[in-house]
Formats: sequence, structure tokens, C-alpha cells
Amino acid sequence: MSYDFSHFGSRVFNDRVMRDKLSKGTYLSLRRSIDEGHPLEPAVAEVVASAMKDWAVEQGATHFTHWFQPMTTFTAGKHDSFIAPTKEGLGILEFSGKELIVGEPDASSFPSGGLRNTFEARGYTSWDCTSPAFVREGTLYIPTAFYAYTGEALDTKTPLLRSNEAVNKQALRVLRAFGNTQATRVSPTVGAEQEYFLIDREKYEQRLDLKLCGRTLFGARPAKGQEMEDHYCGRIRLRVRQFMRDLDEALWELGVPCKTEHNEAAPAQHELAPVFEAVNVACDHNQLTMEVIREVAKKNGLACLLHEKPFQGVNGSGKHNNWSLSTNDGQNLLDPGKTPYENMQFLVFLSAVISAVDDYADLLRMSAANAGNDFRLGGHEAPPGIISIYLGEQLTDVLEHIAHGDVVDQTPSGILETGVATLPKLPRDGSDRNRTSPFAFTGNKFEFRMVGSSASVAISSYVLNTIVADALCKIADRLERCTDFDAEIQKIVQETVRDHGRIIFNGNNYTDEWVEEAARRGLPNLHNTVDAITAMIAPKNIAVMERHHVMSSAECHSRYEIMLENYCKILNIEAATMCEMSRRQILPAAIRFTGGLAESFSSLKAAGIENRSVRDLAQLLSDDISEADRLTGELERALERCAESADLLENARYHRDCIRRLMEKLREVADRMEKFVAASEWPIPTYADLLYRV
Ligand code: ADP
Ligand code: MG
Repeated sequence: MSYDFSHFGSRVFNDRVMRDKLSKGTYLSLRRSIDEGHPLEPAVAEVVASAMKDWAVEQGATHFTHWFQPMTTFTAGKHDSFIAPTKEGLGILEFSGKELIVGEPDASSFPSGGLRNTFEARGYTSWDCTSPAFVREGTLYIPTAFYAYTGEALDTKTPLLRSNEAVNKQALRVLRAFGNTQATRVSPTVGAEQEYFLIDREKYEQRLDLKLCGRTLFGARPAKGQEMEDHYCGRIRLRVRQFMRDLDEALWELGVPCKTEHNEAAPAQHELAPVFEAVNVACDHNQLTMEVIREVAKKNGLACLLHEKPFQGVNGSGKHNNWSLSTNDGQNLLDPGKTPYENMQFLVFLSAVISAVDDYADLLRMSAANAGNDFRLGGHEAPPGIISIYLGEQLTDVLEHIAHGDVVDQTPSGILETGVATLPKLPRDGSDRNRTSPFAFTGNKFEFRMVGSSASVAISSYVLNTIVADALCKIADRLERCTDFDAEIQKIVQETVRDHGRIIFNGNNYTDEWVEEAARRGLPNLHNTVDAITAMIAPKNIAVMERHHVMSSAECHSRYEIMLENYCKILNIEAATMCEMSRRQILPAAIRFTGGLAESFSSLKAAGIENRSVRDLAQLLSDDISEADRLTGELERALERCAESADLLENARYHRDCIRRLMEKLREVADRMEKFVAASEWPIPTYADLLYRV
């Protein structure tokens, strides 16, 4: 029996449903709001709300929720029912235009970084009609932006939507300068590839660290890691196949276009890649994917780990943000194109990206910073903390030729026009691949590979949109004023190579030589989250956010504080979990086992057998027990001192330098003990249990 693909989007209030359920006038009015960003007339909202409710009820919905993305990694929303009791005691269903458009959750319970005080807790959610509503488990989900009473953003969507406007405005200016009058809208597109681990649910439930922190805080390396390279794109096991099938079905219903599923490099690691979409929808869909994936795993007796580094010693997980710009008439602005004219336009957009990434490398690095990602970046499995761009040899060559002016044919008919005609053919596909670059050109888009698997892609997307908008703005200023258009373009490309060429690196980013080379080039190397976060409040970065109305200075500062706070909270929870596991599981098991050794030693001795190995092993474990006990105590005291500093940055540094170091030391001792304690006595599932049981 063939699969019924008509399920795709069956739970989405999409264009087809809108056409079907709304009158032509209402439909066109809503469409204009979606496509051109016009505010919706209240009367229209009323009609849309009513149609949306009727449709949702047909889908089995009893509730609705304003779904939003506060500055945590999760989404939120309270669920209200459609029920409105009448005087007669009957229940009728109600859903007004106002309920569709605005909501009023309590903002004080979400991180605001000083933007909200509890006594002025009002926050609003407002409908983002550019991302379609959908029904999930009896609830109508209405995608919304979340902001404070004063209008300040409290979420990841608001700056994203603002950055879309910024890049649209500047990209259109550049297109107009090229004489393109057809395109009326330029939108970023994003395809977010998602990596994750799948492990057995029962084993997962037995580990406090996995349940509370999403990663293993203890665990000796298994005899087999990923050295055989047999997992990447290997045969997918039956249980995982069943899971992937259920996941596809659940996501397809919700209109999430998942396309590719395969095994990743580490054992138990997998990847899901969707077809790219408009950035705002892609970000919502990635959030939804992260939620659905956990649930489907649970239903299949599995647990999905979205943490950046669930297991030491094997690769961690990332999320690749594939990013491009496209016009509403279907042109991908990062596609080299076939004609010299298209090539020229491509080179201008490419120059904009190159200069933007060089000028704001620190901000882009910040967009991928979180406590979990610190274990990946620079760990020889993911790019280091240094941002650079991979263009491929061919394209780099083309740029250098233009920069040096060697391809320019000096005919009187205008420089670059003929120059471009003599360009080597621009590479049409990124066949020469480089998997080590944090920011790689892959033929018709850039792939930003630093983002952590649990992070929202909205952050790196709004940073990219904004910095590229800024670069395009400078280019548009020049193109609008210049007298010789072709010569100006040549100059733009030349200056980009001259002033920003240092950001281009086509070699292996995982090597130590690159780290040294990058330092010589003056590229920032932000090793860890705490250092990376400070980019959020660097004056030039606040300025670019303000210039394009993406975030105010206050909003940048609030995000900075929230990121530091989150970092400290995560390390706090991890350290406390470690102490608990050490005191209540690992130490007792080690003590019991060592006691058993001592008894064996005595009874052997009583039988006239002197066994030194038994005694030595007991001594070794006994020493480790003392050391683990001492380190646990030290960590406990260090945690008590956390609250002492009122300065957020200082506190974050304390977590990074003191707490994390102690955690590493404690783990080392515990992992050593694991290797000697009998398997039957070890209190928690081992790496082999976790990585090879599905
Ligand atoms: P690979 O990285 O293995 O070559 P693809 O190039 O097919 O795979 O795509 C990787 C991801 O990039 C997919 O999610 C795809 O939808 C996305 N993608 C492709 N084209 C674009 C584009 N123009 N804008 C944004 N994302 C894109
Ligand atoms: Mg990829």
C-alpha cells in the first residue's frame, strides 16, 4: 500500500485551508498581511479567528495557546479552552479576533535580564501570521512574538522578524541599483540540520545526570568508541527506523518538511535534515522538531538527547544553519547564476557576506555560545571558536583575480562588464567540500556549523540577517551614488578581498596550525561561552543592532545578562547533580565493593593464601574513594560560594574556572573507579549500555 502523502500539513492552518475557509476578501487581506507585513484589520481578525477556531475544533482541538519562544531553549504558552459558559449553563465555543491577536502571559516568570520586574510583570504575545498556526494534541498553536509592556523583546522571534525587515530593505536597495524592479521582497531562507542521540529509555531513566542535565557527568570510555567509523550513514537499526518513521509522520502532519534522516558519526547519533523554508517558519519548525522528537522517542521506549555533548569521548551534536537570501520571484541571491550579469550581482552579495562575517565574527560566535557547546567547539569534531569562511579554491581564486585586476580586459566599453565576461566560470556547485569550516559556502548558500544542537536557530539567523543587512547598506550607499557602476562593483570586490580576505580560510580548521595562523591574521578566538557572550554588549555590536532596529541597547544588555545567568544556572545544576550522584550512588558502590575485596583478602589469608593483587586493588580503590569524597566536598563548598558575587560576569567566570575544573577532577576519579568496580555492582548504566543498546 502506498503511503498517503496527503497527510502532509493536514494539521496546519495553511494557505489551502485559508482559501477554503475564508471569503475571498478576507483571504486576500490576510495574505497581504502575511506577505507584506501589513497589520491585520480588527474586523478581518475577527473573521479569521472564527474560521480558525471552527477548523481547529474539526481537528479535535478544545484549547488554544499563544506559542512563543522566551529566552530559554524551550517554547512556552498557556493553554486556554475555547469554552465560554452561557447563562443557561451550556458551553459554547468562543474565540475572538482579540484572543487571536494578543495574549497576556505573566512576563515575570520568564528570563528578561532586567527588562521586567515582577511588580510590572505584564508581557504580551502577538500573533505572527507569517508562521502558520497548527493543531497538536487537542490544542490550536498560534505562533506569537513575546514582548514587554514597553515593547522590548523578551523572545528570540521578535528580533528575528525585525532583522528580516532590515535585510529585506537593504537587499532590495542593492537589487534596485542593479536595475531589478521585479522583486518586491527579499527573505532569508534557512534549512536547519539537527543532530541528536537516541538511547534506551529504561537506561536513561536510571541516570540522574541524563534526566536533569541532558548529558552524562560520569562515565568511563567504552572499549569501542567511534574509531571504526562504522556508524556514519550505516544501516539504521530496526527500532530506530520505526522511530524515524513515526517522527516523519508526526512532523509531516505539522507541515515540517523533513527530508533526510541518517546515522551520524558517533554511535547512537543521528541527523534529521528538513527542506529549507523562510527563516521564521524554519526556526519555528526547528523548535517544533525538538519537541516532537523527544515525545516520539518516549513513545518508542527511547530517549532523545539534544545536548551538545551527552558523552565524553565521542562526537557531540550540532545544528547546521544553512542560510541564504531569496527574492519573492524565486531568485536565490547566493546562487552564482549563469550570466555575467547574475555573476556580478552574486559577487556583490558574496562580498557583503564576507565583510559582514569579518566585521562581526565575534557576534556570530556569540550566537552559537552555550555551556554545552563549549565541549564541542575546538574539540576536533566541530570548528574551533574561531570564525572563518570557506569559499573553496575556485571561488577564492576568482575573487583574488578580480582584486588584483588581472582579469580586467581594458577595453573602452567599461571595465568590469568585459572583465566579468572573461572571468573563469564561477563554480556552480560546492563539490570541493570542507567539513571543518564553521562557515562554509556550499554552492548556493552558506552553512554555519557552529550552532549547538539544543540552541534556537533564530539567534544565529538574526545575527546573520542583521550583519549582512549592514554590509548591504554600505554597498547600496555606494551603488546609488556612483557614476561608474561597473567600476564601483570592481572596487567593492577588491576592497572586500583587501580588507576582509583574512576571514577566508580553505584549509583544515581542526589543526593547531590554523589556530596560530588565525592569531597572526588577528581573528578573534573566543574559546568559551563566557568570553563569547561579551560580544553581545560590545559597542560596535550594539550599534549595528540599533542601526537596523533589530535590538535596542537595553535589549542587547538584557540578552547578555540572560546568557550569563543561564550559563551559571546550567553549571550549578550539573555540579549539584554530580555531588548527589557521587555521594549517593558512586561512593556507596565503591565502598561496598572495596569492603568486599577486603573481606576476600582476609578470608584468603585465613585459608593460608596471601593475595597481593586483591590487597593492592582494595588499596587503590580506597585511595580513590578518599579522593572522590574530598573533591565532592570541595565542589559542595564551591557551590555554596557561588551566590557570593553580585557581579554576573565575575560569577560566570567563577563557574567556568572553579566549578567546571572541580567537576572535571571529580569525574576523572569516579571514571577510574568505574573501571575497577565489578560491573554487577556499578550503580548506573555505563557508556556501553547507553551507546550500544538500541
Ligand atoms: P548537504 O549539506 O548534505 O549537501 P544539501 O545541500 O541538500 O545537503 O542541504 C543541506 C540543507 O541545506 C538542507 O536542509 C537544505 O534544505 C538546505 N538548503 C538548501 N538550499 C538552501 C537555501 N537556498 N537556503 C537555505 N537552506 C538551503
Ligand atoms: Mg550540513
